[in-house]
Amino acid sequence: MLSQAAASIITQLIRKFYESSSGLAPAEVARREFGFGDYERKIAFRHYAFASEASLKRYLVESAPPFVSYSAAFYADPAARPMERKGFIGAELIFDLDATDLRLPCQSEHGRDWVCEKDFEAVRAETLRLIEDFLIPDFGFSEKELLINFSGNRGYHVHVASGPALELSADARREVSEYISGSGLDPDEIFRLVPLPKRGGGKRLAKVMGPKPTDGGWPGRIAKTFLANLGKGKEALTAMDIDAGTAGTLYKKRALIEMGVNSGNWDMVYIKDKSTFWRKVAAHQAIAQSDSIDKNVTKDLHHLIRLPGTLHGDTGLIAKRIGSVAELGGFDPMNDAIAFTDGSVRVKTASVMAFHMRGEQFGPYNDTVVEVPTYAAAYMILKRVAEPA
Ligand SMILES: [Zn+2]
Repeated sequence: MLSQAAASIITQLIRKFYESSSGLAPAEVARREFGFGDYERKIAFRHYAFASEASLKRYLVESAPPFVSYSAAFYADPAARPMERKGFIGAELIFDLDATDLRLPCQSEHGRDWVCEKDFEAVRAETLRLIEDFLIPDFGFSEKELLINFSGNRGYHVHVASGPALELSADARREVSEYISGSGLDPDEIFRLVPLPKRGGGKRLAKVMGPKPTDGGWPGRIAKTFLANLGKGKEALTAMDIDAGTAGTLYKKRALIEMGVNSGNWDMVYIKDKSTFWRKVAAHQAIAQSDSIDKNVTKDLHHLIRLPGTLHGDTGLIAKRIGSVAELGGFDPMNDAIAFTDGSVRVKTASVMAFHMRGEQFGPYNDTVVEVPTYAAAYMILKRVAEPA
C-alpha cells in the first residue's frame, strides 16, 4: 500500500504533468476503450471512451490516474458493455517485452520489482532484435508501420498499426507469437536427409541438407547463428550443445564446413542430435515475450495497454514514445523518460540499491533520510522503497 502522504504528493505531480501535456490522444481516439489504474491495480476501471483529445486531457487532469491504458482494438462504440456490444473493428498487433521475462541472473539478487542497468540494456537489445530480426525481415513490416514506446517501467511495447496487421484474427496473432518465440518449429523440416546415388562400396546412402545463411526466416537464422559461432571457436559451439570433441573437429575444419553450410550442405557437420542442437539455437534466437501479453494479445483482442506518453504509476517515468529504431538503440529510460523535473523532495528510504537518473547516482541507501530531485524521490516512493519524510 502506498501511504496517504505519498499518494497525495504523487497525485499532485501527476495532475501537474497532465496539465502541461499535449498530444496524448492515440490515433482514432474516439474508437478506443480506455482504462485507468489506482496505486494498487494497473487497471481498476475500464470501458471509458473519449470523443477527443481535449476530453481525454480533461479527465487526466481531473482524476490524475497513476496508470492510463487504452485498447489496441478499435470499436464502433468503445464505452459499450459488455465487450460484445462494443462492435470490434480491428486491433493493432502488439508485442510486450519485459525485462523480467529475460530472467537475468541479477534479478535473483535485486528482485523482480527492481530494474538495474543490465535489465534495461537486455530488454532494449531484445526489442531491437524483435524489430530487426523478425518484424522487418520476416514479416515485411516497414519501420514507419511500427510504433515503439518504453513501457514506463522495465520494458518496451511495439505496436504494428498498419492495415493487414489490424485485421489479423486471434489465431493468426497466436501464430505470429509462436513464430517469434521459435516454438512449434520442426527440426526435420530444417535438416533433410537427401538420398545419394549408390556408389561402389555403397555405405553412405544419404547426405544431410540444411539451411543456407541466405535463406529467409528461421532456416537462415539457424545457419547464420551456427556460422557465427563456428567462427568464434570451440566454446561458442559447445554452448550450442555440441559435444566438446565434435566442437574441436568442427573448429579445425571450419573453412571446409563454412563452404558447405553456405550452400546448404550440412553433411560435414557431425552433430549427433540435431533436434537438441536446433532447440538450443532457437532458444538463443527467440524473443522472450511477456507471458501476460502472450495470453492477452494472442487470445484476447480486447487487451488494454499503456498509453504512450502517459506516466507509469510504479515509477513516475513516462511511457515515452520512441521515434525510430535508431533512437531505440540509444534510448536510456533513466535519462530519456524522466518526468517531474522540478524541485526536490525529502524521503526516508528503506534499503535501496544505487541507481542513476539524469546522469546522477543515487544511493545506495539504507534507512537514510535524503533530499533528492523530485523524479528520484517519486521513483523510490512508487517502487515502495521510500516514504516522504
Ligand atoms: Zn538486474
